[in-house]
Amino acid sequence: MAEFLGTQLDYIFFFYGLAFILLGAACFTIQDHDPAGLPWRLLAAFGIAHGVNEWLQLLALSIGDAPAFALLRLILMAASYVLLLEFARLGAIRLGGKAPGRWIYGLLVLLIALGVVMGGLDAANAVARYALGLPGGVGAGLVFARLSRGLSGSKRRWVISMGAGLALYGISTGVIVPAAPFWPASVLNHDAFFRATGMPIQLLRGLLACWMAFSLWAFGQQKILLAMASPVYAGKLYKRSIWTFVPLLVGILGLGWGLTEYLGRMSQQEIQSGVRERLGLLVSRLRIVTTTADNVAKSMAESPWVLPVLSGGGEHTRDEANTVADLSMGAAGGDGIAYLMDGSGTVLASSNRGKSDSLMGKNYSFRPYFREAIAGKAAYYYALGVTTSERGYYASHPVRDKAGRIAGVAVIKKPLDPIGSDLRGIEHAFLIAPQGVVFLASDPDMLFKTLWPLPAETQLTLTRSRQFGNLRYAPLLEQEIVDGAWIVFQGERHYAGRRDSGHDGWSFVVLKIPRAIAASRLFGITITLLFALLTVIYFMRMERMRHDKIVLEQQLELEERARKLDLQASTDPLTGIFNRLKFNQELAAEMARSARYKIPLALVMYDIDHFKAVNDTHGHHAGDRVLTGLCRIVACHLRQTDVLARWGGEEFMILSPNCDARQAFELAEKLRRLIAEFVFDEVGAVTCSFGVAQFQEGDTAETLTSRADAAMYAAKQNGRNQAVRYEPAPAQSTATG
Ligand code: GH3
Ligand code: MG
Ligand code: MG
Repeated sequence: MAEFLGTQLDYIFFFYGLAFILLGAACFTIQDHDPAGLPWRLLAAFGIAHGVNEWLQLLALSIGDAPAFALLRLILMAASYVLLLEFARLGAIRLGGKAPGRWIYGLLVLLIALGVVMGGLDAANAVARYALGLPGGVGAGLVFARLSRGLSGSKRRWVISMGAGLALYGISTGVIVPAAPFWPASVLNHDAFFRATGMPIQLLRGLLACWMAFSLWAFGQQKILLAMASPVYAGKLYKRSIWTFVPLLVGILGLGWGLTEYLGRMSQQEIQSGVRERLGLLVSRLRIVTTTADNVAKSMAESPWVLPVLSGGGEHTRDEANTVADLSMGAAGGDGIAYLMDGSGTVLASSNRGKSDSLMGKNYSFRPYFREAIAGKAAYYYALGVTTSERGYYASHPVRDKAGRIAGVAVIKKPLDPIGSDLRGIEHAFLIAPQGVVFLASDPDMLFKTLWPLPAETQLTLTRSRQFGNLRYAPLLEQEIVDGAWIVFQGERHYAGRRDSGHDGWSFVVLKIPRAIAASRLFGITITLLFALLTVIYFMRMERMRHDKIVLEQQLELEERARKLDLQASTDPLTGIFNRLKFNQELAAEMARSARYKIPLALVMYDIDHFKAVNDTHGHHAGDRVLTGLCRIVACHLRQTDVLARWGGEEFMILSPNCDARQAFELAEKLRRLIAEFVFDEVGAVTCSFGVAQFQEGDTAETLTSRADAAMYAAKQNGRNQAVRYEPAPAQSTATG
């Protein structure tokens, strides 16, 4: 599991960064709806800067790192922590708490600079986390804890959860730091955490970031929705957004992870099979050399021309043996040496006699290939030449006399340097001894180092055997590679393949940097990011539309309410026609218009005759029904431009623009007749008395209405159920129905 999680670091960085960027986005939406006035912009800037930093971390991991790039990331990380700390500082002050002044940053930056001077980037990274990340995270957590005090319900829960997330994040980022050469970074660091839990700390931080982003987003949603709609409606919207957006995003991240894994595995297989292919080629290349040497050593040992010199023949027998050695060397490909040793290990005949590196007369009885062959076994040996210091393969074969007794040993030595130069074309390739000592390498610097740690006694034995000259003990890897494994070599992840050459554990190792895997995975991650962003953008647009819709609905409702209020203020609740207030407004407007455009304006006032008696006889409710019924009759016989209003208890006004006294009188007469002819249920017939007046220049509302009133009074006086037109002269024209 630990190893698997170790390979998922890129994806972890990806969703870690995404979570922080979403957290930043959530802050922007909250700030417009926060009466507490927390510095949300700072938290948003922290989220975005930190998220981008994680993505840069991902790029460093996938594409490769450089010191300048690492410095850039360190600066961005420190800057993001400063933003977080500033959020905590200002937040605490705004919520009425205490916090140190800005001078604190001078102190902290000084501390980080000290870290750089003391221990380079890694140390500065650790110090930045201690000095900024830890207090920033925990401080911001406390700000949220304080904010929660003034809240209730689920808003309070989300704020507490955000605060807890921040505090835990502060601890995970500001206590568990990259390894640095001072306490406590030397003990409490990323590697120690990974060893203890089997989980990269970045996974924990990424999960915390998701949790924070979710809490803040949920809080923001509630805040926004509650601020603008009814709680029930808001609750519904809130649930809907949680149950669509969150699963959708989680689904996309899950599918994206699957895709990334798939692409990574495909290219991993490619790399593995590439490494296997290379190993196969190297093994067969070596086998051609070794099999030739083995075969030639055997045929040399079996040659009848080598025995005589071993059994103490004269000078000419030595010449014959030398000729056999020359021929054998030719058969073995020309390069190398063929030689014959007697039972004591002394070279009696050789192919390179007379040269500076001549072996003639030398004794190699200490060499294992001699000891094994003299014991009756064909043997081989990989070693550094004692005389030539060349790396070579030694094939030895016992020479038997006719009775089958071992008389000596024939040896073919083949130089392996040509294979060494073949290796140079490969990134990292080694021919290694069973103990892991590098015998041939693509990089000459690695020769005679060990690939993995060896026990002290093995080191000693190897040094004594002089098989590899001076062993340069410096393990290149942490552990032995068995078949294929993912390892860290020179600080970079590699795929290592090993294949046995068929010689007692002598094997080839090929290392390959899995750039293609990182690139494939990055491709998967990019696609996932694209879909995630599309979802977020789509969802934010939906949110916006939903928000706008709610605002619009609210506006319409307000307008409707205003309209109703206006109506209430201007209408009579019993009859539904205009009230006296509205009538006065209309009267003023029409009088002004009439005066300005010189168009006539008439006023008709009418009152129900003996209405008190109606009430007394039939009751107040029946009286009310007469009032409503009467209004309906009158209203449907008026022009669109006429204004009908209730003036008092059972008194009404009709304002008739563009109508003179004569026409108004006719209208009054018409209405009087209509009313008188109408039979009300319960009450029967009811009559009204009408007074008519026309607007004159210099009229006020009072003078005009009192003229109409006077005319109506006259109608009452004259016996009721009649219309009277106001005449300025005492003489009045009357009409009776
Ligand atoms: P006149 O012919 O002189 O107008 O006689 P009247 O009885 O109609 O006049 P008066 O002013 O003496 O009485 C008016 C009555 O109208 C008194 C009151 O009970 C009645 N009234 C006023 N407003 C309402 C109302 O909203 N509903 C009912 N049912 N009656 C009302
Ligand atoms: Mg009346
Ligand atoms: Mg009256």
